[in-house]
Amino acid sequence: METLKLKTKLLYLLISVALGLLVVGFVGYFNLLTMKRNVDTLYFGSMIPLTELSAINTAYHHELESNIYRWREKVISDEEFARNITLGLANIDQMWASYLSHHKRPEEVAYVTYTDERIDTMKRYFEEIRSLSAQQTHASAVSLITLSDNITSIHNTIAQLISYEINVAKYERAVTLSHHEDSLMQLAVMLGIILLGVMTFAWRIFAQIEQQQQQLLNSSQALQHLNVKLEQASYTDTLTGIFNRRYFNLVYDREFKRASRSEKPITFIMVDIDYFKPYNDTYGHLQGDVALQSVAHILRTSLSRPGDFAFRLGGEEFGIILTDTDAKSARQMAERLRFNVESLNMEHKGNKNTGIVTISLGAICVTPTMSMGNESLLHTADANLYAAKERGRNQVVFTTTL
Ligand code: GH3
Ligand code: MG
Ligand code: MG
Repeated sequence: METLKLKTKLLYLLISVALGLLVVGFVGYFNLLTMKRNVDTLYFGSMIPLTELSAINTAYHHELESNIYRWREKVISDEEFARNITLGLANIDQMWASYLSHHKRPEEVAYVTYTDERIDTMKRYFEEIRSLSAQQTHASAVSLITLSDNITSIHNTIAQLISYEINVAKYERAVTLSHHEDSLMQLAVMLGIILLGVMTFAWRIFAQIEQQQQQLLNSSQALQHLNVKLEQASYTDTLTGIFNRRYFNLVYDREFKRASRSEKPITFIMVDIDYFKPYNDTYGHLQGDVALQSVAHILRTSLSRPGDFAFRLGGEEFGIILTDTDAKSARQMAERLRFNVESLNMEHKGNKNTGIVTISLGAICVTPTMSMGNESLLHTADANLYAAKERGRNQVVFTTTL
Protein backbone atom coordinates (compact mmCIF):
# COMPACT_ATOMS: atom_id res chain seq x y z
CA MET A 1 0.00 0.00 0.00
CA GLU A 2 2.79 2.40 1.03
CA THR A 3 4.83 1.44 -2.05
CA LEU A 4 1.84 2.19 -4.24
CA LYS A 5 1.53 5.63 -2.67
CA LEU A 6 5.23 6.19 -3.28
CA LYS A 7 4.96 5.15 -6.91
CA THR A 8 2.00 7.48 -7.42
CA LYS A 9 3.93 10.30 -5.81
CA LEU A 10 6.94 9.67 -8.04
CA LEU A 11 4.61 9.69 -11.03
CA TYR A 12 3.14 13.01 -9.88
CA LEU A 13 6.65 14.37 -9.54
CA LEU A 14 7.57 13.35 -13.07
CA ILE A 15 4.30 14.76 -14.45
CA SER A 16 4.78 18.06 -12.61
CA VAL A 17 8.37 18.33 -13.89
CA ALA A 18 7.18 17.64 -17.44
CA LEU A 19 4.32 20.15 -17.12
CA GLY A 20 6.66 22.73 -15.64
CA LEU A 21 9.11 22.33 -18.52
CA LEU A 22 6.22 22.58 -20.98
CA VAL A 23 4.99 25.83 -19.40
CA VAL A 24 8.52 27.28 -19.39
CA GLY A 25 8.90 26.21 -23.02
CA PHE A 26 5.64 27.92 -24.01
CA VAL A 27 6.46 31.11 -22.13
CA GLY A 28 9.91 31.14 -23.74
CA TYR A 29 8.40 30.55 -27.18
CA PHE A 30 5.85 33.37 -26.86
CA ASN A 31 8.51 35.71 -25.54
CA LEU A 32 10.69 34.94 -28.55
CA LEU A 33 7.74 35.69 -30.85
CA THR A 34 7.17 39.03 -29.13
CA MET A 35 10.88 39.84 -29.38
CA LYS A 36 10.77 39.12 -33.10
CA ARG A 37 7.76 41.40 -33.48
CA ASN A 38 9.58 44.12 -31.54
CA VAL A 39 12.67 43.82 -33.72
CA ASP A 40 10.42 44.08 -36.81
CA THR A 41 8.76 47.18 -35.39
CA LEU A 42 12.16 48.74 -34.74
CA TYR A 43 13.38 47.86 -38.20
CA PHE A 44 10.35 48.61 -40.37
CA GLY A 45 8.74 51.16 -38.05
CA SER A 46 11.84 53.27 -37.38
CA MET A 47 14.98 52.37 -39.29
CA ILE A 48 13.56 52.17 -42.85
CA PRO A 49 11.43 55.35 -42.45
CA LEU A 50 14.49 57.17 -41.10
CA THR A 51 16.55 56.13 -44.13
CA GLU A 52 13.74 57.26 -46.45
CA LEU A 53 13.39 60.64 -44.78
CA SER A 54 17.16 61.21 -44.96
CA ALA A 55 17.11 60.24 -48.63
CA ILE A 56 14.27 62.75 -49.32
CA ASN A 57 16.30 65.50 -47.69
CA THR A 58 19.36 64.53 -49.72
CA ALA A 59 17.23 64.53 -52.88
CA TYR A 60 16.06 68.11 -52.21
CA HIS A 61 19.68 69.23 -51.86
CA HIS A 62 21.45 67.19 -54.51
CA GLU A 63 18.79 66.53 -57.15
CA LEU A 64 16.75 69.76 -57.02
CA GLU A 65 18.67 72.64 -55.39
CA SER A 66 22.07 71.92 -56.97
CA ASN A 67 20.27 71.35 -60.30
CA ILE A 68 19.01 74.93 -60.22
CA TYR A 69 22.52 76.27 -59.51
CA ARG A 70 23.98 74.27 -62.43
CA TRP A 71 21.15 75.53 -64.70
CA ARG A 72 21.79 79.12 -63.61
CA GLU A 73 25.51 78.72 -64.40
CA LYS A 74 24.57 77.08 -67.71
CA VAL A 75 26.38 73.87 -66.87
CA ILE A 76 23.25 72.06 -68.05
CA SER A 77 20.75 72.87 -70.80
CA ASP A 78 17.09 73.86 -70.23
CA GLU A 79 15.92 70.40 -71.35
CA GLU A 80 18.33 68.56 -69.06
CA PHE A 81 17.30 70.85 -66.21
CA ALA A 82 13.58 70.15 -66.79
CA ARG A 83 14.27 66.39 -66.99
CA ASN A 84 16.32 66.44 -63.80
CA ILE A 85 13.57 68.34 -61.93
CA THR A 86 10.95 65.81 -63.12
CA LEU A 87 13.18 62.87 -62.05
CA GLY A 88 14.01 64.44 -58.68
CA LEU A 89 10.34 65.17 -57.91
CA ALA A 90 9.31 61.64 -58.97
CA ASN A 91 12.04 60.19 -56.79
CA ILE A 92 10.89 62.23 -53.79
CA ASP A 93 7.24 61.29 -54.49
CA GLN A 94 8.13 57.64 -54.54
CA MET A 95 10.15 57.74 -51.33
CA TRP A 96 7.47 59.81 -49.58
CA ALA A 97 4.75 57.35 -50.70
CA SER A 98 6.86 54.51 -49.37
CA TYR A 99 7.34 56.38 -46.08
CA LEU A 100 3.57 56.94 -45.80
CA SER A 101 2.86 53.25 -46.40
CA HIS A 102 4.44 52.31 -43.03
CA HIS A 103 2.28 52.18 -39.98
CA LYS A 104 1.84 55.58 -38.32
CA ARG A 105 1.00 56.14 -34.72
CA PRO A 106 -2.09 58.33 -34.10
CA GLU A 107 0.04 61.06 -32.45
CA GLU A 108 2.29 61.12 -35.58
CA VAL A 109 -0.55 61.64 -38.07
CA ALA A 110 -0.97 65.40 -37.65
CA TYR A 111 2.71 66.11 -38.24
CA VAL A 112 2.90 63.68 -41.15
CA THR A 113 -0.07 65.43 -42.77
CA TYR A 114 1.63 68.77 -42.25
CA THR A 115 4.84 67.48 -43.87
CA ASP A 116 2.78 66.02 -46.71
CA GLU A 117 1.34 69.46 -47.40
CA ARG A 118 4.82 71.00 -47.24
CA ILE A 119 6.17 68.46 -49.73
CA ASP A 120 3.21 69.21 -51.98
CA THR A 121 3.93 72.94 -51.80
CA MET A 122 7.59 72.24 -52.61
CA LYS A 123 6.49 70.15 -55.56
CA ARG A 124 4.41 72.98 -56.93
CA TYR A 125 7.30 75.39 -56.34
CA PHE A 126 9.76 73.24 -58.35
CA GLU A 127 7.18 72.57 -61.06
CA GLU A 128 6.79 76.34 -61.41
CA ILE A 129 10.55 76.78 -61.85
CA ARG A 130 10.55 73.88 -64.36
CA SER A 131 7.79 75.71 -66.35
CA LEU A 132 10.06 78.80 -66.41
CA SER A 133 12.72 76.76 -68.25
CA ALA A 134 10.10 75.71 -70.80
CA GLN A 135 9.23 79.33 -71.44
CA GLN A 136 12.91 80.07 -72.17
CA THR A 137 12.99 82.44 -69.20
CA HIS A 138 16.48 83.12 -68.02
CA ALA A 139 17.53 81.16 -64.98
CA SER A 140 18.57 84.30 -63.15
CA ALA A 141 14.87 85.08 -62.75
CA VAL A 142 14.76 82.41 -60.06
CA SER A 143 15.25 84.00 -56.66
CA LEU A 144 18.09 82.26 -54.85
CA ILE A 145 16.86 83.67 -51.57
CA THR A 146 13.41 82.08 -52.03
CA LEU A 147 15.10 78.83 -53.11
CA SER A 148 17.35 78.82 -50.08
CA ASP A 149 14.40 79.67 -47.78
CA ASN A 150 12.26 76.91 -49.27
CA ILE A 151 15.01 74.28 -49.13
CA THR A 152 15.85 75.24 -45.54
CA SER A 153 12.18 75.11 -44.60
CA ILE A 154 11.53 71.65 -46.11
CA HIS A 155 14.85 70.47 -44.68
CA ASN A 156 13.79 71.58 -41.19
CA THR A 157 10.30 70.08 -41.58
CA ILE A 158 11.74 66.68 -42.56
CA ALA A 159 14.49 66.96 -39.92
CA GLN A 160 11.72 67.48 -37.37
CA LEU A 161 10.02 64.30 -38.63
CA ILE A 162 13.39 62.48 -38.44
CA SER A 163 13.92 63.64 -34.89
CA TYR A 164 10.39 62.52 -34.12
CA GLU A 165 11.07 59.09 -35.65
CA ILE A 166 14.31 58.83 -33.65
CA ASN A 167 12.36 59.53 -30.47
CA VAL A 168 9.83 56.86 -31.42
CA ALA A 169 12.69 54.42 -32.10
CA LYS A 170 14.20 55.22 -28.71
CA TYR A 171 10.84 54.67 -27.09
CA GLU A 172 10.34 51.35 -28.95
CA ARG A 173 13.79 50.24 -27.91
CA ALA A 174 13.04 51.07 -24.28
CA VAL A 175 9.77 49.12 -24.52
CA THR A 176 11.60 46.17 -26.09
CA LEU A 177 14.29 46.20 -23.42
CA SER A 178 11.75 46.42 -20.64
CA HIS A 179 9.77 43.59 -22.20
CA HIS A 180 12.97 41.61 -22.46
CA GLU A 181 13.66 42.17 -18.76
CA ASP A 182 10.05 41.26 -17.90
CA SER A 183 10.41 38.05 -19.87
CA LEU A 184 13.62 37.15 -18.09
CA MET A 185 12.01 37.87 -14.74
CA GLN A 186 8.94 35.83 -15.70
CA LEU A 187 11.11 32.87 -16.68
CA ALA A 188 13.23 33.15 -13.55
CA VAL A 189 10.14 33.28 -11.30
CA MET A 190 8.53 30.36 -13.11
CA LEU A 191 11.70 28.28 -12.96
CA GLY A 192 12.05 29.18 -9.29
CA ILE A 193 8.48 28.08 -8.53
CA ILE A 194 8.92 24.82 -10.45
CA LEU A 195 12.28 24.13 -8.82
CA LEU A 196 10.86 24.83 -5.37
CA GLY A 197 7.83 22.64 -6.04
CA VAL A 198 9.94 19.78 -7.36
CA MET A 199 12.40 20.06 -4.49
CA THR A 200 9.61 20.08 -1.90
CA PHE A 201 7.94 17.12 -3.57
CA ALA A 202 11.22 15.20 -3.89
CA TRP A 203 12.15 16.00 -0.31
CA ARG A 204 8.84 14.63 0.92
CA ILE A 205 9.23 11.48 -1.15
CA PHE A 206 12.78 10.93 0.06
CA ALA A 207 11.69 11.48 3.64
CA GLN A 208 8.98 8.89 3.16
CA ILE A 209 11.43 6.43 1.58
CA GLU A 210 13.80 6.93 4.48
CA GLN A 211 10.99 6.45 6.97
CA GLN A 212 9.84 3.27 5.25
CA GLN A 213 13.41 1.99 5.12
CA GLN A 214 13.74 2.61 8.85
CA GLN A 215 10.43 0.85 9.50
CA LEU A 216 11.55 -2.08 7.36
CA LEU A 217 14.86 -2.22 9.19
CA ASN A 218 13.09 -2.11 12.56
CA SER A 219 10.62 -4.81 11.67
CA SER A 220 13.31 -7.02 10.16
CA GLN A 221 15.38 -6.61 13.32
CA ALA A 222 12.35 -7.41 15.44
CA LEU A 223 11.69 -10.43 13.25
CA GLN A 224 15.27 -11.61 13.58
CA HIS A 225 15.09 -11.19 17.33
CA LEU A 226 11.81 -13.10 17.41
CA ASN A 227 13.26 -15.86 15.24
CA VAL A 228 16.20 -16.32 17.57
CA LYS A 229 13.84 -16.42 20.53
CA LEU A 230 11.56 -18.87 18.76
CA GLU A 231 14.45 -21.13 17.87
CA GLN A 232 15.75 -20.99 21.42
CA ALA A 233 12.26 -21.67 22.73
CA SER A 234 11.83 -24.70 20.53
CA TYR A 235 15.09 -26.14 21.88
CA THR A 236 14.61 -25.16 25.51
CA ASP A 237 12.83 -26.86 28.36
CA THR A 238 10.44 -24.33 29.87
CA LEU A 239 10.83 -25.43 33.49
CA THR A 240 14.62 -25.74 33.77
CA GLY A 241 15.86 -23.57 30.89
CA ILE A 242 18.29 -26.25 29.64
CA PHE A 243 17.94 -28.03 26.24
CA ASN A 244 14.83 -30.20 25.78
CA ARG A 245 14.22 -33.72 24.47
CA ARG A 246 13.55 -32.44 20.96
CA TYR A 247 16.99 -30.84 20.75
CA PHE A 248 18.50 -33.94 22.35
CA ASN A 249 17.22 -36.09 19.42
CA LEU A 250 18.85 -33.70 17.00
CA VAL A 251 22.18 -33.35 18.78
CA TYR A 252 22.44 -37.01 19.67
CA ASP A 253 21.88 -38.09 16.07
CA ARG A 254 24.33 -35.52 14.72
CA GLU A 255 27.10 -36.20 17.26
CA PHE A 256 26.74 -40.00 16.97
CA LYS A 257 27.26 -39.76 13.20
CA ARG A 258 30.13 -37.32 13.58
CA ALA A 259 31.84 -39.60 16.11
CA SER A 260 31.47 -42.67 13.91
CA ARG A 261 32.79 -40.74 10.90
CA SER A 262 35.77 -39.28 12.72
CA GLU A 263 36.25 -42.43 14.89
CA LYS A 264 36.28 -40.41 18.07
CA PRO A 265 34.70 -41.52 21.35
CA ILE A 266 31.23 -40.31 22.38
CA THR A 267 29.78 -40.49 25.87
CA PHE A 268 26.14 -40.61 26.87
CA ILE A 269 25.13 -40.31 30.52
CA MET A 270 21.62 -40.89 31.76
CA VAL A 271 20.83 -39.06 35.01
CA ASP A 272 17.86 -39.74 37.33
CA ILE A 273 17.05 -38.08 40.65
CA ASP A 274 16.84 -40.57 43.51
CA TYR A 275 13.54 -41.04 45.32
CA PHE A 276 11.97 -38.12 43.58
CA LYS A 277 8.44 -39.34 44.03
CA PRO A 278 8.82 -39.23 47.84
CA TYR A 279 10.39 -35.75 47.45
CA ASN A 280 7.24 -34.49 45.77
CA ASP A 281 5.13 -36.22 48.36
CA THR A 282 7.08 -34.62 51.23
CA TYR A 283 7.70 -31.10 49.94
CA GLY A 284 4.97 -30.66 47.37
CA HIS A 285 5.05 -30.45 43.59
CA LEU A 286 6.14 -26.80 43.49
CA GLN A 287 9.20 -27.47 45.64
CA GLY A 288 9.77 -30.53 43.40
CA ASP A 289 10.01 -28.15 40.45
CA VAL A 290 12.53 -25.99 42.31
CA ALA A 291 14.65 -29.09 42.98
CA LEU A 292 14.47 -30.01 39.28
CA GLN A 293 15.66 -26.50 38.38
CA SER A 294 18.55 -26.70 40.87
CA VAL A 295 19.74 -30.09 39.59
CA ALA A 296 19.42 -28.91 35.95
CA HIS A 297 21.44 -25.79 36.74
CA ILE A 298 24.21 -27.84 38.42
CA LEU A 299 24.35 -30.24 35.46
CA ARG A 300 24.57 -27.45 32.93
CA THR A 301 27.16 -25.37 34.79
CA SER A 302 29.32 -28.40 35.50
CA LEU A 303 29.90 -28.78 31.75
CA SER A 304 32.34 -26.29 30.27
CA ARG A 305 33.41 -27.51 26.82
CA PRO A 306 31.49 -26.52 23.67
CA GLY A 307 31.09 -30.20 22.76
CA ASP A 308 29.31 -31.03 26.06
CA PHE A 309 25.51 -30.80 26.27
CA ALA A 310 22.93 -31.20 29.09
CA PHE A 311 19.26 -32.04 28.34
CA ARG A 312 16.11 -32.65 30.32
CA LEU A 313 14.75 -35.78 28.74
CA GLY A 314 11.48 -35.80 30.72
CA GLY A 315 10.25 -35.94 34.35
CA GLU A 316 13.27 -36.06 36.65
CA GLU A 317 15.50 -37.63 33.99
CA PHE A 318 18.39 -35.82 32.31
CA GLY A 319 20.79 -36.74 29.51
CA ILE A 320 24.41 -35.66 29.05
CA ILE A 321 26.38 -35.90 25.81
CA LEU A 322 30.18 -35.52 25.86
CA THR A 323 31.94 -35.46 22.51
CA ASP A 324 35.59 -36.07 21.73
CA THR A 325 36.25 -37.06 25.38
CA ASP A 326 38.24 -40.16 26.35
CA ALA A 327 36.79 -42.76 28.74
CA LYS A 328 38.88 -41.64 31.71
CA SER A 329 37.79 -38.01 31.46
CA ALA A 330 34.18 -39.07 30.83
CA ARG A 331 34.16 -41.18 33.99
CA GLN A 332 35.61 -38.24 35.94
CA MET A 333 32.94 -35.94 34.52
CA ALA A 334 30.11 -38.35 35.52
CA GLU A 335 31.55 -38.56 39.01
CA ARG A 336 31.87 -34.74 39.19
CA LEU A 337 28.19 -34.36 38.24
CA ARG A 338 27.14 -36.75 41.00
CA PHE A 339 29.42 -34.97 43.47
CA ASN A 340 28.21 -31.48 42.52
CA VAL A 341 24.52 -32.43 43.03
CA GLU A 342 25.35 -34.05 46.34
CA SER A 343 27.26 -30.88 47.31
CA LEU A 344 24.07 -28.86 46.86
CA ASN A 345 23.12 -30.45 50.18
CA MET A 346 19.38 -30.04 49.55
CA GLU A 347 17.32 -31.58 52.29
CA HIS A 348 15.39 -34.70 51.25
CA LYS A 349 13.92 -36.55 54.19
CA GLY A 350 12.47 -39.16 51.86
CA ASN A 351 15.97 -40.26 50.79
CA LYS A 352 16.60 -42.94 53.42
CA ASN A 353 20.28 -43.31 52.45
CA THR A 354 21.57 -39.73 52.65
CA GLY A 355 18.73 -37.39 53.69
CA ILE A 356 19.67 -35.04 50.81
CA VAL A 357 18.92 -34.82 47.07
CA THR A 358 21.20 -37.15 45.06
CA ILE A 359 21.32 -38.52 41.54
CA SER A 360 22.16 -41.88 39.97
CA LEU A 361 24.05 -42.01 36.66
CA GLY A 362 24.30 -44.70 33.94
CA ALA A 363 27.14 -43.87 31.52
CA ILE A 364 28.58 -45.39 28.36
CA CYS A 365 31.65 -44.22 26.43
CA VAL A 366 32.44 -45.85 23.04
CA THR A 367 33.94 -45.03 19.67
CA PRO A 368 30.98 -45.91 17.40
CA THR A 369 31.40 -48.15 14.35
CA MET A 370 29.36 -48.10 11.16
CA SER A 371 27.51 -51.28 12.15
CA MET A 372 26.52 -49.85 15.54
CA GLY A 373 22.93 -48.64 15.85
CA ASN A 374 22.61 -45.37 17.77
CA GLU A 375 19.81 -46.81 19.95
CA SER A 376 22.25 -49.29 21.50
CA LEU A 377 24.08 -46.49 23.34
CA LEU A 378 20.83 -45.33 24.94
CA HIS A 379 19.91 -48.87 26.02
CA THR A 380 23.29 -49.46 27.61
CA ALA A 381 23.12 -46.13 29.49
CA ASP A 382 19.61 -47.04 30.66
CA ALA A 383 20.79 -50.46 31.80
CA ASN A 384 23.74 -48.86 33.65
CA LEU A 385 21.36 -46.40 35.34
CA TYR A 386 19.20 -49.31 36.46
CA ALA A 387 22.31 -50.98 37.84
CA ALA A 388 23.27 -47.79 39.74
CA LYS A 389 19.80 -47.69 41.31
CA GLU A 390 20.10 -51.36 42.19
CA ARG A 391 23.48 -50.84 43.82
CA GLY A 392 22.05 -48.27 46.24
CA ARG A 393 21.74 -44.99 44.18
CA ASN A 394 23.93 -41.80 44.40
CA GLN A 395 26.54 -43.46 42.24
CA VAL A 396 27.90 -43.83 38.70
CA VAL A 397 27.88 -47.04 36.69
CA PHE A 398 30.25 -46.47 33.78
CA THR A 399 31.06 -48.95 30.97
CA THR A 400 33.03 -48.75 27.72
CA THR A 401 31.36 -51.69 25.95
CA LEU A 402 27.79 -52.20 24.80
P1 GH3 B 1 13.96 -43.67 41.86
O1 GH3 B 1 14.93 -43.32 42.89
O2 GH3 B 1 13.82 -45.12 41.65
O3 GH3 B 1 14.16 -42.91 40.59
O4 GH3 B 1 12.61 -43.24 42.48
P2 GH3 B 1 11.67 -42.08 41.93
O5 GH3 B 1 10.64 -41.83 42.92
O6 GH3 B 1 12.47 -40.93 41.53
O7 GH3 B 1 11.09 -42.77 40.67
P3 GH3 B 1 9.79 -42.58 39.77
O8 GH3 B 1 10.20 -42.61 38.35
O9 GH3 B 1 8.82 -43.54 40.25
O10 GH3 B 1 9.30 -41.15 40.15
C1 GH3 B 1 9.48 -40.03 39.34
C2 GH3 B 1 8.69 -38.92 39.85
O11 GH3 B 1 9.11 -37.67 39.36
C3 GH3 B 1 7.23 -39.05 39.51
C4 GH3 B 1 6.74 -37.61 39.37
O12 GH3 B 1 5.91 -37.25 40.43
C5 GH3 B 1 8.00 -36.80 39.48
N1 GH3 B 1 8.01 -35.87 38.44
C6 GH3 B 1 8.10 -36.10 37.06
N2 GH3 B 1 8.09 -34.93 36.39
C7 GH3 B 1 7.98 -33.94 37.33
C8 GH3 B 1 7.92 -32.53 37.23
O13 GH3 B 1 7.95 -31.94 36.19
N3 GH3 B 1 7.82 -31.80 38.39
C9 GH3 B 1 7.80 -32.45 39.60
N4 GH3 B 1 7.68 -31.68 40.70
N5 GH3 B 1 7.85 -33.75 39.69
C10 GH3 B 1 7.94 -34.53 38.60
MG1 MG C 1 12.73 -41.71 36.88
MG1 MG D 1 14.02 -41.07 40.00
